[in-house]
Amino acid sequence: MIDAGVAPNAAPCLAVDIGATKFECAVVAPDSTILSRQRIQVREHADDLFGALVELVRDVTDGNTYEFIGVGCAGPMTGRGATVSPLNIPAWRNFELLPLMREALGIRVYIDGDARALALAEGFFGGAVDDASFASLVVSTGIGGALVLDGRLIDGESGNAGHIGHLKVKEPGRLCSCGSYGCLEAEASGWAIEDITGRSAKEADEATRRHCAELVGRALGTLSAVLDFSHSYVAGSVALGYGDEFFEVANKAARSVATLPYSSNVEIRRSALGADGPILGAALVGWRGEFS
Ligand SMILES: [Zn+2]
Repeated sequence: MIDAGVAPNAAPCLAVDIGATKFECAVVAPDSTILSRQRIQVREHADDLFGALVELVRDVTDGNTYEFIGVGCAGPMTGRGATVSPLNIPAWRNFELLPLMREALGIRVYIDGDARALALAEGFFGGAVDDASFASLVVSTGIGGALVLDGRLIDGESGNAGHIGHLKVKEPGRLCSCGSYGCLEAEASGWAIEDITGRSAKEADEATRRHCAELVGRALGTLSAVLDFSHSYVAGSVALGYGDEFFEVANKAARSVATLPYSSNVEIRRSALGADGPILGAALVGWRGEFS
């Protein structure tokens, strides 16, 4: 199990998931029970998104006192949320989320990337509770990821470790949102598939679906061999939407590249988290920030 610093008797955590289309705030108990929750739609609050966020948090706290809050937010970001620029929220560019939330709410604020928050949830509440080391990947419109090694979510120098979507998988490859070419995200994400085929990822033909799975499998297989973990957990509408075939092809591709003896158990699994994964992850960002 991942070390998120959460004791079973820890107090419930206030959590916010900042997604592309909706913001959700909840109070989460350490056993993953969601004690209260509310959501707002991003497009209905375009003129004052931050004001709506603060109001949402105040509604959920309902007069109760919390000393800290965990936030999962789409990237990119700097300095653990000191500034965030979620790709799908154009109004927030270098938006000073951490200091603004701290000032508005008067409590300690911990922010991490949404894919990293999801990895915490997978390791603490999901399929990876028995894995000390694993990769977590979200294959949806974009591709986000995170790595847990020896029970710790790997941060890296700037807190951005685990951007598996920017592993180069093709030469020379297509231009990626990061400025490079041939990244996994530029070849196998929902937007890439739409761009390549002219149809939504949901409508992709079999060859496209298999190619997407193969690229994901090779990337995860390579990481398994380099970092010595057996299990990867994959979520996201594209991967889950492609179903069994995706996981069959991805596993075959992973095993074709992870061939060292210690890699014999390499396996790509479906994420065991349901729709509550992001908000549970946000709570774990809070507990981890406070206690770990
Ligand atoms: Zn890239």
